Amino acid sequence: MTKEKLWQAVLAQIQLEISEANFVTWFRDTQICSLKEDEITIQVPNSFAKEWLEQKYNKGIFKLIRELDGNIKRVKYIINRSSLEGSEKIIKRAIPVPFETSQLEFEEFKIDRKTGLNPKYTFENFVVGSFNELPQAAAWAVAKNPGTVYNPLFIYGGVGLGKTHLLEAIGNEVVKNFSGKTVKYISSEKFISGVVSSIRNQRMEIFKQKFRTIDVLIVDDIQFMAGKEKTQEEFFHTFNVLYEKNKQIILSSDSPPKAIPSLTERLRSRFEGGMMADIGLPDFETRMAILKSKLQEKEAELPEEIVSFVALKVEKNIRELEGALNYLLAHQKLHKKSLTMKKAEFLLKNLIHRPIKRITPKTIMDTVARFYGLTEKNLTSSSRKKEFVGPRQIVMYFLKEVLSCSYPTIGRKLGGRDHTTVIYGYEKVKKRLEEDSRLKEEIQLIKQRIESV
Ligand code: ADP
Ligand code: MG
Repeated sequence: MTKEKLWQAVLAQIQLEISEANFVTWFRDTQICSLKEDEITIQVPNSFAKEWLEQKYNKGIFKLIRELDGNIKRVKYIINRSSLEGSEKIIKRAIPVPFETSQLEFEEFKIDRKTGLNPKYTFENFVVGSFNELPQAAAWAVAKNPGTVYNPLFIYGGVGLGKTHLLEAIGNEVVKNFSGKTVKYISSEKFISGVVSSIRNQRMEIFKQKFRTIDVLIVDDIQFMAGKEKTQEEFFHTFNVLYEKNKQIILSSDSPPKAIPSLTERLRSRFEGGMMADIGLPDFETRMAILKSKLQEKEAELPEEIVSFVALKVEKNIRELEGALNYLLAHQKLHKKSLTMKKAEFLLKNLIHRPIKRITPKTIMDTVARFYGLTEKNLTSSSRKKEFVGPRQIVMYFLKEVLSCSYPTIGRKLGGRDHTTVIYGYEKVKKRLEEDSRLKEEIQLIKQRIESV
């Protein structure tokens, strides 16, 4: 295998395993630069990407490379100086808060290929409190009697509050207790892309068959199906076939069915036909219990007052609660001495009281201009050159979406344009976003940059 092919194969694999935005940000501009016996050198566009790949993805990258070429023992990253000159500074500031300081595993490594389940999520390590008692009990009942008690089971609640954990725990429990049952966990994003690619490749029948022979189907985050009519239609049929055969269906969403925009009426009533249970916010005692259980899992220790301080400060998201704990533990490990309350307070202050970013029209204009290699003048000028018009419309889009500026205001900011021109430009970008995946990628990247300034 040539070195280029090797890296292409690695990238193809990575692309399957991380979000598109992450892939574009960290991997798109990478290349293999040399492959010498046991050492491979990857060229990256800037020091931030270098740092990030080394610190966060190296383990996963290394493993993938080793699967393709067992001789390689080391991966090095070097910066390609000629690319992206000048943008170093803004990128540098985009360093996300280190909620997780350990290596990012490509989740896929842990996931069972057949069921799609991650074995780390179980009922045993799911802490129960009054905020999640009902969904937990319903989940447990379903895991013990799939297809007979609550069908469908619909769990909803805010981000990071344990929906995925609970759904996966059901799947893992069923696998443990019913060896004959086929279980499938799938995120609705994967379901959507399955529908899209099956249509494209005319393999819809195979896709349908795959889902209709399942005993327990778990679909996570179905709010993402909003507005995807073809996917909803396909899901509706799958749902009916399974339901009529008394197969279990388990769903999650960030909101109840009636609050999911553009969900077809028939799906909505199907979802509401079973058991709906919401996960609320954990109280202080439960947050303490969760932290203690995580400490035990990690076989780590922290003084009680620090644990209680973390529980007090992070209220609304269990993922962040865990992140804050990991952050403190990583610090403790690095400095090889136990953390003091004062230090913990200091560390968490940086983490929690992040200054609220003030995004201004100027930030947006600057970022878009820079992204497309233009000047602000190009954007505000009266020129109708194609290379200016597109980015100018993107500025309109962001001014509307992010800052909710009025159309006349946007027109003024862009060199005195008429508000009808702005409406046209804004709508155009919105429309293009539906069909142009490249533009979607760009918008995501620009958004990340705007938010990190
Ligand atoms: P959601 O899907 O609702 O966004 P997740 O299920 O991904 O949230 O949960 C975020 C993190 O918090 C996961 O690491 C999960 O294991 C942990 N978590 C959530 N709820 C609990 C709980 N009740 N007990 C223990 N850990 C939990
Ligand atoms: Mg989730």
